[in-house]
Amino acid sequence: MDAAVHVLVFPWPRQGHINPMLQFATALVDTGIQVTFLHTEHNLRRFAQAHPPGLRLLSIPDGLPDDHPRGFLAFMESMCMAGSAAYRALLLALLSAADAPVTCVVADGTMPFAIEIPEELGIPALSFVTHSACSYLAFLSMPKLVELGETPFTADDLVCSVPGMEGFLRRRDLPRGLYCTEHGDGDPLVLKFAEAVGRTSKACALIFNTAASMERPALAHLASGTSDVFAIGPLHARSSSAASPSLWREDDGCMAWLDGHEDRSVVYVSLGSLAVITHEQFTEFLSGLAATGYAFLWVLRPGMVKTTTPALLREAVGAAEGGKGRVVEWAPQRDVLRHRAVGCFLTHAGWNSTLECAVEGMPMVCWPFFVDQQTNSRFVGAVWKTGLDMKDVCERGVVERTVREVMASDEIKAAAKAMAQQLRLDIAEAGSSSSELERLVRFVRELSV
Ligand code: UDP
Repeated sequence: MDAAVHVLVFPWPRQGHINPMLQFATALVDTGIQVTFLHTEHNLRRFAQAHPPGLRLLSIPDGLPDDHPRGFLAFMESMCMAGSAAYRALLLALLSAADAPVTCVVADGTMPFAIEIPEELGIPALSFVTHSACSYLAFLSMPKLVELGETPFTADDLVCSVPGMEGFLRRRDLPRGLYCTEHGDGDPLVLKFAEAVGRTSKACALIFNTAASMERPALAHLASGTSDVFAIGPLHARSSSAASPSLWREDDGCMAWLDGHEDRSVVYVSLGSLAVITHEQFTEFLSGLAATGYAFLWVLRPGMVKTTTPALLREAVGAAEGGKGRVVEWAPQRDVLRHRAVGCFLTHAGWNSTLECAVEGMPMVCWPFFVDQQTNSRFVGAVWKTGLDMKDVCERGVVERTVREVMASDEIKAAAKAMAQQLRLDIAEAGSSSSELERLVRFVRELSV
């Protein structure tokens, strides 16, 4: 262990951020660097699985009682107040630690304070981006888009002022919020993200969980700015283990259920850890899936469908035509995507899910829910051509047609396979992502001197 270098890794305390930052922390530990991983107390209590060995775990309060729903804006506010005060106090304590003081911070780019506080205290801080580089660039371009009148973000017009994405990115592929779908440019969630991206882009380096082969033009534009840019992903593919620190209990029973199905005959459906849908949307998905005739494995987290209970959802899925559906509250997703029986993934195109699909060469049907997912799904459908993008349409006929087309398309399967092969090369020794990770480790060591 190299005691002269001590990195504090601090993710935004949500599943889709914890996963890649923990994978990153593990990669650092593997190089002999001392790493402390910072959770909130609430999350640390919820973790079912153990963390990888060699990591020191610490936690700070997020300022909310355990039974608080932690909606995005309330959570963000509480983290900025109570969370940031506790973080500052912890950093001060870690700075003066007698054994191995913290020499560098890698914090989630969603939280400007997590980068600005260490900088104020004289600790170098790097920003880790858990989203795609293309959606990051879209967020960064947001003020310019609004200034140039490239709004509302629901239109089909092509976007002109996001460099590197001319010709295929439409306004409806730009990040979208929750509250104001007519005018995404005015949505408080989108504005918060855009502000955070603007502030954290000034960190001394930006780390992306992506590969140059997936997002070369966006990365090139970002690298032409002031910060150093590192594209080191997909991080999860560096380890053969599919174990991930889950905030929910995984239902492994679905693996035996998958074993009983023919190759490439099942549709896996998951909208990630945050999306909440209406009962009408649930019904449209269910009817569309049932009409395809394919068996499907559907992740329905408790509370994910408004105004209904898991028991009623199970009943509805069980009664759907053919009774071919299986519901779980949380799946071992990486294992599911590797299973021979799964033929496509109906996904919200969250960046982790997109990467996990890409690594397994799994064709995608995208129904993006919010923020970066709109941009990711456009890349899947129009750039990589590894799936189809339903975008903001949730109708049973469209679900049925799109799933059928993706399950049957040899072109999409071939594109997904080619992307998976390229990503294997990227993360292999001397591949672009591995070389970037080595360069990043050198950079962190130099900052820590
Ligand atoms: N995930 C999982 N089991 C599930 C659903 C999701 O393990 O049943 C994991 C998935 O593998 C991914 C993460 O949760 O690593 C979701 O992250 P993503 O960026 O795709 O979406 P978010 O949850 O942030 O919207």
